[in-house]
Amino acid sequence: MKQVYTKENHNIPIEGVDRDALYVIRKLQQAGHTAYLVGGSVRDLLMGVTPKDYDVSTSARPEEIRGIFKNCYIIGRRFRLAHVRFDDKIIEVSTFRSGDPQTEDLILRDNEFGNPEEDALRRDFTINGLYFDPSNETVIDYVEGFEDAKKRFLRVIGTPHVRFKQDPVRMIRLVKFQARFNLDVCPQAHLALLDCRAEILKSAPARVLEELLRMLESGFANPFFKQLSDAGLLQHLIPTLSAYCELAEKNIVFDLLDIADKVHKKSSTRFDRTVLLATLVFPIFERHIQILQKEGTSFHLGRIENEAYFIIEEFFSPFLEIPKRIVGTLAMVLTSQFRIRPQPSKPVRIKIPRIPDFNLAVDFLYLESLYNPLLKSIHEPWKKALKKY
Ligand code: ATP
Ligand code: MG
Repeated sequence: MKQVYTKENHNIPIEGVDRDALYVIRKLQQAGHTAYLVGGSVRDLLMGVTPKDYDVSTSARPEEIRGIFKNCYIIGRRFRLAHVRFDDKIIEVSTFRSGDPQTEDLILRDNEFGNPEEDALRRDFTINGLYFDPSNETVIDYVEGFEDAKKRFLRVIGTPHVRFKQDPVRMIRLVKFQARFNLDVCPQAHLALLDCRAEILKSAPARVLEELLRMLESGFANPFFKQLSDAGLLQHLIPTLSAYCELAEKNIVFDLLDIADKVHKKSSTRFDRTVLLATLVFPIFERHIQILQKEGTSFHLGRIENEAYFIIEEFFSPFLEIPKRIVGTLAMVLTSQFRIRPQPSKPVRIKIPRIPDFNLAVDFLYLESLYNPLLKSIHEPWKKALKKY
């Protein structure tokens, strides 16, 4: 059932909406098309959060969209959508699509055009299925998401079991919104997640990796990984980390994520994705190297680097696939910690090596120094040396 909420009912300040997104919608509407703001940005505006990006849904077909905007590129082969480019951002404009069939088959194709209602119903959660029409400042709701947003309630559109089987990434997205907005999860969705969690291994590893990386950068990495672990999803996605979380006397990984979250929330500093991945792996890697050292294995960086590749491979298997480039940089960040920190019988020499992205190793040391103040005096000279370099 369609419900429309006017300005008197909602708290979205039109001044809070990105000007370029408003421009895109106005131009589409002036050309005679239906066009609304949709998805995450409407949700964020309703929840009082500044959206990261803005998506627009429209009745215009990709070619028609391209005809309206000069700065417009069509992307995607399976489902074509338009990117309207501005100096500092891209507004993603997609044609209304029809929904998933009500079967439990994995969705491999979803490329039928549809109407606004169908497009809302194919989305994952009710709070993500709302439209905002800036021309009259109304929120258009086909999925009863408006009330859920107000109650801070996370509800799946459709039958949770069916929707999770169709696209298991939705289970990770459930945990992400729960962690990010501190929402109550609808009991049926919670039960469906417990039933379907092993199916996460049927999803595309690249999509899962992207969701994990986005959450590492989000300022809510700690609650996200904790809840991923509580929901039993981590056990399937990264069994090594899951085992560590269960067995470690002190879970340094969660502490490091908490530190990263604090930095991301209070400043514009963004740790590089590789540095953030290092927070997951380093505590396990460090323990591994310490055990080898105790066993009397000779200590040299070449050996440590080999071990880094070995541990990274083991850590992300059997499911995640990390691009080679990131594996290389991550191995460097991990290995370099044994170069830049004093080791037994080996004083540190402050000299910046000719290693690409070496600054990321120093960034990771910085992150850990926020947790362990003893590392501050070790980080300082490296930071100075990098500045001069
Ligand atoms: P974020 O703030 O992390 O970007 P988001 O909700 O905007 O969160 P996107 O991945 O940008 O997430 O997706 C945009 C919109 O597309 C969502 O709000 C939702 O309506 C829809 N969507 C995304 N992923 C799915 C999915 N797996 N199944 C159904 N709908 C989805
Ligand atoms: Mg988004």
